Order: sequence, then structure tokens, then C-alpha cells
Amino acid sequence: MSALSNEYKYKMLNLHMQIALEIFSPIHPWQHPMFAQKELNVFIKRDDLIHPLISGNKWRKLKYVLLKAQAEGKTHLVTFGGAFSNHLLATAAAAARFGFKATGFVRGEEVQNDTLFLCRLHGMQLIFVSRDAYRNKPELFQQYFGQDEQAFFVDEGGASVEGTQGCAELITELPTQYDHIFCACGTGTTAAGIIKGLQQHQLPSAFHAVPVFKNGEFMRNEIDRFLTVPAPYHLHTDYHFGGYAKTTPELISFVKDFVSSTGILIEPVYTGKMLYALHNLASKDYFAPGSSILAIHSGGIWGLLGMKDKFAGS
Ligand SMILES: *Cc1c(COP(=O)(O)O)cnc(C)c1O
Repeated sequence: MSALSNEYKYKMLNLHMQIALEIFSPIHPWQHPMFAQKELNVFIKRDDLIHPLISGNKWRKLKYVLLKAQAEGKTHLVTFGGAFSNHLLATAAAAARFGFKATGFVRGEEVQNDTLFLCRLHGMQLIFVSRDAYRNKPELFQQYFGQDEQAFFVDEGGASVEGTQGCAELITELPTQYDHIFCACGTGTTAAGIIKGLQQHQLPSAFHAVPVFKNGEFMRNEIDRFLTVPAPYHLHTDYHFGGYAKTTPELISFVKDFVSSTGILIEPVYTGKMLYALHNLASKDYFAPGSSILAIHSGGIWGLLGMKDKFAGS
């Protein structure tokens, strides 16, 4: 087969997959007496509704990664995550949906849990590696799949320029301009993508990133390395609740109140912390009366399954 016809074939495949990857998530109001009192209009972009497993920002982050893999003729996605990684699960589900083979390197000793069960159910092969070995991902890839010409490296959390490209598209879906936009950040890819989207469309919305780690100041470097043009944004580093996947009774009770009063499912690792931050800032009169605020629900609700004990008795 000539190179040209191969190129044509991939173009058609890409086009086909691109159409299958198009998404649109609805925006719902978040009503709360305190917001009404402060004259704030708060909305939630329901990226959690995009897909039950390739949820939220993971779909956006994977979109151009998958298209790149396919354009390069790769059929095997190799990626990395912790034992409760939403990204592993999203990659497993996306691989099954779009016809890739998938391997996930899992950090730490072999364990069984609901997330990994669902990864396997979608056909992902899991390889457990020590925390030490896990640190050098390109080396792990080389060591295990250096000879596999079909293998395609997907970084932990889907962190990549392609990931930011997919997240930037969120901005094109907004029906109106918001004064403030909030999102949670882990790798900072989603935040960087949204900032890029705001830049591309010359929108003046103030962007707010809420790191879910302790000492989240380092997130500024992670976000900035994806930006070709520097941009101002707010980083709220006081809402980590003790660190990654750590919670407090206050956060758990916020999540419970939120879910039971809105019917919107959230988890306390990402979206719970981000919405708490938004709510807390509002209560301290951080926003001018009349402001419109959009929070991105980045999905990940299966993370709840690893936290049932935190809710026990509450
Ligand atoms: C993975 C994840 C994030 C983190 O996104 P980054 O692009 O890595 O910053 C945020 N929210 C949820 C629900 C996630 O699963």
C-alpha cells in the first residue's frame, strides 16, 4: 500500500473518531440561599455527564491524545496511575470504546479495588510497579514496550499539550460570558487548557484553579509550562484539606450537603474541594454582587467508591 493511501486511511479514521469524540455537556444552576443573599449567579458545567467512565476532563484530555495515537498508527495505549486513578479508568474505557489495546502501570504493591476491577473489565492489562520504579515512566515504557511498535506512551493523568487542546474546547461550548470560572487541578492540564481557551477567544473571565494537593503553589509552574502566552489567573492553595485524597469531617459534610441538596454527585478528591473553595470564598464576600460564576464539574465520581469509609456514620 502506498504512503499516500495510508495517509488517506488515517485521515478518514481520524475524522471518524473525531466525530465520535465530539461532546457537549450541559450547564446547571447551583442554587443556594447564601448565593442568593450575596446576589451571585453560580453555575456548574456538567462534564461529569459526558460519559460514565471517561468522565469529565479525562475525555477532553484524551481526545487529541487518541487522535494522535491513531494518526501514528498506534493501537496500544500505555499509561500510568495510582490504584484509584480516574485517568487509568478513563483510558481503559476509551481504549475499549475506540478499539485500542491498553496497559496501565499501577503505582505500588498489587491491590484489588473497584477502580482496578473496572479497568480490567474494560480489558486493560495492569502492571504493578514499586513507587521507585514508577517515578521514571519513560524508562518503564522503554523497558516493557520498547520493542512494541504499536505502543503509545500516555503520561500520567493525560498530562500533555494535546490534553490542553481538548480542554480548551470547553470554552467554545459556553452560551454566555462568565465573570469567574473555577476548576480543580491535579496535573494542571485542564486548568492550562481552559486558560488557553479563554485566550483564544479573548474572553476576560477571571480564571481560578484549586490545587488538591498540599503546598499547591508548585501548580503555577505546572500550568505555566503549557501556556505559550502568559496569562493572569488565581491559584487558591488553601483548600487541600491535608493533602491529596485527604479529607476532613467538614469537607465530607459539605459533600453530603451538596449532593443531597442538588442531586449532583461529586467526590471529595477534586470537585468537592473546588466547590468548597468557591462556596467559602463567596461566604467571605470575595465576589462582587451580581457576579456570574461557572464551576467545572470534572467528573471522577467513581473516586467515591474508594472513600466510603470516610462517609461512614455521617
Ligand atoms: C483527574 C481529575 C482532575 C485533575 O485534572 P488535571 O488536568 O490533571 O489538573 C480534576 N478533577 C477530576 C474529577 C479528575 O478526575
